[in-house]
Amino acid sequence: MSSNEFKISVLAGDGIGPEVMLEALRVLDSASNKYNFKLRLDHQLVGGIAIDQKSHPLPEETLNSCETSDAILFGSVGGPKWESLPPDEQPERGALLPLRKHFGLFANLRPSVCFPSLTGASPIRTDIIEGGFDVLCVRELTGGIYFGEPKSINQTTDGRIAIDTMIYNESEIDRIARVAFNAARGRSKKLTSIDKANVLRNGILWREIVENVSKDFPDVELDHLYVDNAAMQLIRRPKEFDVLLAPNLFGDILSDEMAMIAGSLGMLASASLGQSKGNGLYFGMYEPSGGSAPDITGKGIANPCAQILSASLMLRYSLGLTDAADSIDNAVRSAIDKGYRTGDIFSSDADTKQVNTVEMSDAIIDNII
Ligand code: NAD
Repeated sequence: MSSNEFKISVLAGDGIGPEVMLEALRVLDSASNKYNFKLRLDHQLVGGIAIDQKSHPLPEETLNSCETSDAILFGSVGGPKWESLPPDEQPERGALLPLRKHFGLFANLRPSVCFPSLTGASPIRTDIIEGGFDVLCVRELTGGIYFGEPKSINQTTDGRIAIDTMIYNESEIDRIARVAFNAARGRSKKLTSIDKANVLRNGILWREIVENVSKDFPDVELDHLYVDNAAMQLIRRPKEFDVLLAPNLFGDILSDEMAMIAGSLGMLASASLGQSKGNGLYFGMYEPSGGSAPDITGKGIANPCAQILSASLMLRYSLGLTDAADSIDNAVRSAIDKGYRTGDIFSSDADTKQVNTVEMSDAIIDNII
C-alpha cells in the first residue's frame, strides 16, 4: 500500500448503525477525493447481525480483518431482538468489550461539542453556554476500579460483602496522560486532570505522575480538580475547559455529564485508542457515543453527524490526515450553521430546516472544501 492508502475495517452493526455508516462512508469518499488519500474498506459483521448470520457477536473473520487494518470504524450494536440472550452473548458485551480488550484500547476520547447554533438543545441556561463550547474528555479505559482484582461478592458471617479494587500503576497513568497532553497540544493547550487525591491513594499517584508528564509538555497549561468539584464546575462554566483527563470511573461519569450538557447524543463522536504508532498516531476504534436507537431504525431520520465526526477522528488520530479531518469537522459545523437539522436537534423557533439522514449528509458533503 502507498503511504496515502489505508485499510479500514467497517463494522456497521445493528439498528441505525448501517444507516449512519453509509453516510459516513459517503463523506469519507468525498474527503478522499479532495485530500488525495485512499481507503480500502473491509466490511465485516458485528453484534446482533453477526449472531444471526455467524452465531457469534464477534466472528473470527471480523477480528482478523481488524487485526490487519489501520483502524476500525464502528457503528453500533444491540437491540431488543438480542436482549434475552445470556449477558455475555449479547451484542455489546460479546463484541464491543472484547474488541476494546483485544486491541488494548486504553484511551477513550469523547469530544463534547456544543455548536453556537445548537445551544438551544442543551439543558444548561443560555447565558452560561452562549457561543457554545468544545471540551475533549480523555478517559482511561482499561484500568482502574472497573478491572482491578480482587473483585467479588463474598458471603461472610456478617452477611455479604462486595469488593472492587481501584488499581493504577505508573505506566498506565503515564500513557493516558501523554495522550491527553498531546491532544491538548493540538487544541487550546489547556489540560484539567481529574482525581480524588484528597481521599484516594490512587489520586495521589495519579496527580504525581500527571505532574511528571507535564514537564515534557511545558506549552500545555495544567490544573487539577477533585472529581466532585469538577462535576459542579463543568455545569457552572463549561466554556472554560479544553481537555479533561480522568481515570476510568470518573471519566465514565463526567463524559456522560458533558454529553448531556452538550445536549444531543446524535452529534457526539468517540475514539478508543490503543498502542501509539510512535508518530503521534494510534490504532483505534471510532464510533458514535449513542447506541443502535431501535426506536428510529429504518425511518431514515437518524442524525449521521456522530458517525461522520467519528470518521473524522479516525482520520486525525489513526491516519494522520489532519487537513481532511478539519475539513469534515468544519463541514458539519457549516451545515449546522446553515440551519440543517435532523429531528433530534430540530427546534421550530430558529431559522432551521428539518432534514432526513441523507439530506443532512448531503449538506455536509456540499460543505467539504
Ligand atoms: P440509544 O443511544 O440507542 O438511544 C437513546 C435515544 O437517543 C433514543 O431515543 C435514540 O433514538 C436517540 N439517538 C441515539 N442516536 C441517535 C442518532 N444518531 N440520531 C437521532 N437520535 C439518536 O440508547 P438505548 O436506547 O439505551 O440503547 C439501544 C440499544 O443500543 C441497546 O440494545 C443498547 O444495548 C445498545 N447500545 C449500543 C451501544 C454501542 O454500540 N456502542 C451504546 C449504547 C447502547
